Amino acid sequence: MSNTDVHPQIQEEVARLAGFPEVRSALGRFRFEEPQIAQWQMDVSRLPAPPFGENLRAEWLANRFREIGLTEVEIDEVGNVFGVRPAYGRHFVSLSAHIDTVFPATTPLNVRQQGSRLYGPGVSDNGAGIAALVAVASVLCSSQVPHTLPIVFIGNVGEEGEGDLRGMRHVFQTPRWRDSISSSVIIDGAGSDTVVAEALGSRRFEVIVRGPGGHSWSDFGAPNPIIVLARAIQMLSETPVPASPKTTFNIGVIRGGTSVNSIPESASMRVDLRSTSMVEIDRLERALRIALDHAVDAENRPASARGGRRPHAAQCEVLEIGNRPAGELPPDSRLLKVIRAVDGLLGNTAQVQRASTDANIPLSLGREAIAIGGGGTGGGAHTLQEWFDCTGRDLGLRRILLTMLALAGMGE
Ligand SMILES: [Zn+2]
Repeated sequence: MSNTDVHPQIQEEVARLAGFPEVRSALGRFRFEEPQIAQWQMDVSRLPAPPFGENLRAEWLANRFREIGLTEVEIDEVGNVFGVRPAYGRHFVSLSAHIDTVFPATTPLNVRQQGSRLYGPGVSDNGAGIAALVAVASVLCSSQVPHTLPIVFIGNVGEEGEGDLRGMRHVFQTPRWRDSISSSVIIDGAGSDTVVAEALGSRRFEVIVRGPGGHSWSDFGAPNPIIVLARAIQMLSETPVPASPKTTFNIGVIRGGTSVNSIPESASMRVDLRSTSMVEIDRLERALRIALDHAVDAENRPASARGGRRPHAAQCEVLEIGNRPAGELPPDSRLLKVIRAVDGLLGNTAQVQRASTDANIPLSLGREAIAIGGGGTGGGAHTLQEWFDCTGRDLGLRRILLTMLALAGMGE
């Protein structure tokens, strides 16, 4: 980020609140709390949290929220955990971290510490995020820093893969939160050197083609679902996509057929469409559907020419299996100015990035949202070799706390 983007007024405001004695002492606390923060991180990482199975972590987090002194602690019907630090305003600023992992319930969660490093599946994504969420809430509560807008702390379910952002989607479908959260900070993984301000959208489909099937010799001419898919893939693959906004498509899985001398009764494929622009995703979805229509027609044509009847024609079903909306933080948004001012004050450099995170949901609704790391460094996300290094974590935590205070505001 270039310094020319720093907004002098917001920079002054951030410097002013960082100078309050209670804020200074709160910011200084993180370094001393590190052993406790690492312990929270290991404790939560030892609880399995596969997509649609996050309840153990939700209970754990609700207990931490109560211990710390957040109010209105509750778990909603999909398993999201909420805790509130009350204040005076009507709107909330939210700080959230996803509590799910990509690992199935049977994955051994061998979480251990060696020096400044933590090892174990999920320890960084999103053990680091959850630890930061609890750490910031804890320091804020115990140091009694006053702020104008109330802050809601959220541990949400369903960020990864098939979870399809269901936790955050539910938060923004619940009238209480949808109508009151004015800006959202999402903590995802480790680090303090990025700001995700552009939401990469994706739409995923399972395409199933069915036909009458038959013998490769005696039923030759019956529509073949694998050929339908092949024709459709060929046509889709010729669809032009712009370099900007970056737009991509992929056929990631293809299945079908039973034996070399059978005309298959069914074949299926999984398709992934991505872009930072919803318009491009819609356009690609249309291209996919047109390609499938053409392919089905082309494959059914010989059958109808021979007087084949409709029940024996190939048919195609398209199921949506994922939908993450795209969105973008406007360059002049207050949230972007705040995080830049905070980074300026802390001497931190960060890159604006584009990714698919929980921020997709508020961004797609036109709300201000960013996703940032929970400090420290990490690697090997989504593997059993995942690690997190606590060195310098307090920079990331100070960055989060200052951002939250600047967003929530502190009276004169
Ligand atoms: Zn994550």
